[in-house]
Amino acid sequence: MPGYEPFLLCDFHVHTTWSDGALTLREVVDLYGATGKFDVIAITDHILMKKDLIARAGRIVTLGRRAFGVREENFEAYLDDIRKEAERAKAQYGMLVIPGAEITQNRISGKGKKNSHIIALDIQEYISADQAADEILRDIRRQNGLSIACHPHHRTTRRIEVSTCYLWDHREELAGLVDVWEAANRDDLFSVTSLKHYPYVANSDFHKPKHLYSWKTLLRCEKSWPAVKEALRHNVDVALTLFRDGSSAA
Ligand code: ZN
Ligand code: ZN
Repeated sequence: MPGYEPFLLCDFHVHTTWSDGALTLREVVDLYGATGKFDVIAITDHILMKKDLIARAGRIVTLGRRAFGVREENFEAYLDDIRKEAERAKAQYGMLVIPGAEITQNRISGKGKKNSHIIALDIQEYISADQAADEILRDIRRQNGLSIACHPHHRTTRRIEVSTCYLWDHREELAGLVDVWEAANRDDLFSVTSLKHYPYVANSDFHKPKHLYSWKTLLRCEKSWPAVKEALRHNVDVALTLFRDGSSAA
C-alpha cells in the first residue's frame, strides 16, 4: 500500500538474566535476530525497590542464584553488556538494540498503594525505584530518555497480579510526563486506554522464549534511535501487530 512501506518490527520491553528473564542478553539477541524479522529491540531489565518482597522470596527459592533486578552497583556493567551486544546485533542481524530499564514497584497493595512500572529507554544513569512516579518520569526526561508506561491497566491473563495502575489512575496529572503508553502487553490488550488519544506502543514483556509470540509494534521510520524515538513520541505511523509462530499454525 503506497505510503505504508516500509515498517520496522519493534519490541521495546525485553528482560534477560540481568533481572528475572530466562535467557542471557546474548541468547535474547540471537533469538530475535535469528527470526530475520526484527528491526529494533530494547533491553529493559527490572530495577526494583530496595524492599521488593517478591524478589526477596524469589532469591530464597533460588538460593540466591538469580538476581531479579539490576542494582546501582552493577548498572554500568549492565549498560556495557548491552553496548557490546548492540554492536554484535547490528553487525550480525542488522538489528538495533536500545538500552533501557523497567523501574519497577511491587508493593503489595492493602494500604491502597498502587504501583507503577516505567520503562526508561536510552538512559545513562541508574534510576531508583524508591521514589514517586512523577520523580522517576522527571529523571527520565532529565536524562533525555524516553518513558513508557508499562501494562497501565489490569492484565486479565495474570492469575496473581500486583496492581500497576498508578499511572493510569493519575493520568490527568501525569500524562504530560509519560512519552508512550503500552496499549498491549504480551497477550493483553488494554482497550480502555484507547479511549484517551495518547501515544501507544505494544510490547512482549519478554521473559522466556514463548513470549516472542505476542503483541509488537510496527513503526514507519528510519532504523536509528533518534528516528525511532521521534516516531514513538509523534505516534502517527504506528501499528500494533500480533507476531505469531507461523510454524505451528494449523
Ligand atoms: Zn512490569
Ligand atoms: Zn517487564
